[in-house]
Amino acid sequence: MARKIIVSNRLPVKIKRIENRLTFEASEGGLATGLGSVYKDGDNIWIGWPGLCLDEESEEQTAIAELQKENMQPVFLTETEIKEYYEGFSNETLWPTFHYFSQYAVYEQSYRDAYHQVNQKFCDQILKSANPGDTIWIHDYQLLLLPSMVREKLPDITIGFFQHIPFPSYEVFRMLPWRKDILQGMLGADLIGFHTYDDVRHFVSSVIHILGLAASHGIIETGNRSVMVDAFPMGIDYDKYADTAKSEKVAAIVNTFQEALRSRKIVLSIDRLDYSKGIPQRLRAFEMFLKQYPAFHEEVTLIMIVVPSRAEVEKYKELKIEVDELVGRINGSYRTLTWAPVQYYYSSFPFEELSAFYRLAHVALVTPMRDGMNLVCKEYIASRTDGTGVLILSEMAGAAKELSEAILINPNDVNQVVDALYQALTISEENQRTAIASMMVTVQKYDIHHWVNIFMDRLAYTKEKQNALKTTLLRGEIQQKLIKEYQQARQRLIFLDYDGTLMPFTRDPNKTKPDNELLNQLQALAANPANRVVIISGRDHTTLAKWLGHLPIDMIAEHGVWLREHETEWHMIQNLDNSWKEDIRPIFEMYVSRTPGTLLEEKDFALVWHYRKIDPALGETRAGELSSHLNYLIANQNLQVMEGDKIVEIKNIEVNKGIAAARWLQSYEPDFVLAVGDDRTDEDTFRMMPPEAYTIKVGNIRSVAKYHLHTTEDVRSLLQHLTGSAQ
Ligand code: UDP
Repeated sequence: MARKIIVSNRLPVKIKRIENRLTFEASEGGLATGLGSVYKDGDNIWIGWPGLCLDEESEEQTAIAELQKENMQPVFLTETEIKEYYEGFSNETLWPTFHYFSQYAVYEQSYRDAYHQVNQKFCDQILKSANPGDTIWIHDYQLLLLPSMVREKLPDITIGFFQHIPFPSYEVFRMLPWRKDILQGMLGADLIGFHTYDDVRHFVSSVIHILGLAASHGIIETGNRSVMVDAFPMGIDYDKYADTAKSEKVAAIVNTFQEALRSRKIVLSIDRLDYSKGIPQRLRAFEMFLKQYPAFHEEVTLIMIVVPSRAEVEKYKELKIEVDELVGRINGSYRTLTWAPVQYYYSSFPFEELSAFYRLAHVALVTPMRDGMNLVCKEYIASRTDGTGVLILSEMAGAAKELSEAILINPNDVNQVVDALYQALTISEENQRTAIASMMVTVQKYDIHHWVNIFMDRLAYTKEKQNALKTTLLRGEIQQKLIKEYQQARQRLIFLDYDGTLMPFTRDPNKTKPDNELLNQLQALAANPANRVVIISGRDHTTLAKWLGHLPIDMIAEHGVWLREHETEWHMIQNLDNSWKEDIRPIFEMYVSRTPGTLLEEKDFALVWHYRKIDPALGETRAGELSSHLNYLIANQNLQVMEGDKIVEIKNIEVNKGIAAARWLQSYEPDFVLAVGDDRTDEDTFRMMPPEAYTIKVGNIRSVAKYHLHTTEDVRSLLQHLTGSAQ
């Protein structure tokens, strides 16, 4: 049976060594809860590092046996690997880069090598369990190379990847020395998820610019697969937070805390000690608030919980010193006998105590400089079961996209944070309730279970789509069968597209003249009296006649406007009207003059805008604009707009390659049909072919065609086989 395999750097387990014995405790983080419904089911598993370096084989065996009971499989890492792969490349290279702190990023080849090696270790562990029909869901930035590693070994397996941290702008990402490998690694997945649409945009833009791949509407064409990229904002285990906040145990803790804090207003912040969280900036803003609003002295307390994190990394040590000093300075300046403005805890808290803090806090002050999502703000909302409270939230947190009723601030703008604090501490209860109620609906609906389900559904859908349009590589036995049927046939019809099928693309379409090898090949193919060779192209008929007119072949030009059997003159498929060109040409000219490097091609019944030579992202944007501009203008006219391979084309609707090809099928009643093409317009040809025809897509395995070949050279080699095989 098909399995689901979850893979992340850490397993959802806490292993401790107590008096030389290992203890295992399931961790109850949001992700573990959400994915529980997946990995705990049947034969499904979760693969990851168990969180402790084990030195002895016997300990490893114990761990494997214990974890197996919980459907987990460990990947054991050495201390050096943790240092170089996890603390090094993951947290000193990728983390700062992805959070827009490139100035902190360490570019160290040995870290990158260890990262590769550990990703390979994860891959090896996956391969021990995985089968081609399984679904693998890989998590986060520690495993960016893993999707492609698995794909290489199991080409048909379903792979989802989710990145829990931001994906930075292309301008930032491009600074990374290993940017290409990282993108290629990720593209091994079928579905790539991020928290926000901005992350999606940045990723797609990096792929377009760095790898030169085409992408539109969140789908990246890798040549042999299409990869979907989308935003899936992660939620929390809402019920758990809401229920705990209402529990008696938490009510008792709240009472104890309240007595100690008197009736002061509480501002709460909770984060790991990390420079991306903006902790010093927040303290400075609070200090300025106290300076500007003396009326709040003794009235408000900032409870700041800072959870120790990555304490081995230099930047984090420096940050700890800075935070300690700032807290000391503020408390030193403002404290009284009965009041400390900042209550700073450098430790983590048990779940119920955190819940009590959420319940106590009049204001949650969540001001990261950059955060993939930020769960603390959602946990605060879920815990506000009495309906009051105020959330101040940084625009730079992914959660800001969903929680728009919060007081949104730019964490770099100290004055704005000061104003927000004042507003939050003076806002009416009615306004608090309105905002909290609305955010609660969002946090409750889009909870962690919703997130897991929607990602899994989308992943299955992506694979279904891929499979529906999947072609088989034409080689080996299939190619033998094709050649055999070709040899046995009496009347053959061979449709060949020109650009991208017989000739590779060049930056200038006028320079794609056929070379001698091709001319000789076509000559040889057409010389066989049983063959009817039809070149079926989007090019204008004058060019085709000039380049190929001397050969004993038939031609279909301009996607089916002009037809020519080699012993006759060109004729039009039917009487077409091209008076529309007068009105539409100026629009195309405007796009050419706005976009240097693009050009207008005029055919008898079509206008084409070419943008192959320009920045791909600009080209896509302008192409989208031009298409919608044209579609708006041509409503109710007999015209159609098509976006092809780096082109936008407008033409009469009655024209397509398939309709034209049908004429040959009717006239010749062939017993062997071959159709080869590479772009969207060739799909019309494939659709018109009889069921027994050999239809071949070049350069992409997604097509309604039955088979595919990788390159124009492969097409030529096939033609060579055919001419060599039969008289
Ligand atoms: N948290 C915790 N113990 C604590 C303080 C916080 O387990 O003492 C949790 C908190 O409830 C939240 C998580 O740590 O679920 C922090 O997640 P967030 O997305 O806000 O930030 P991250 O640390 O992942 O960057």
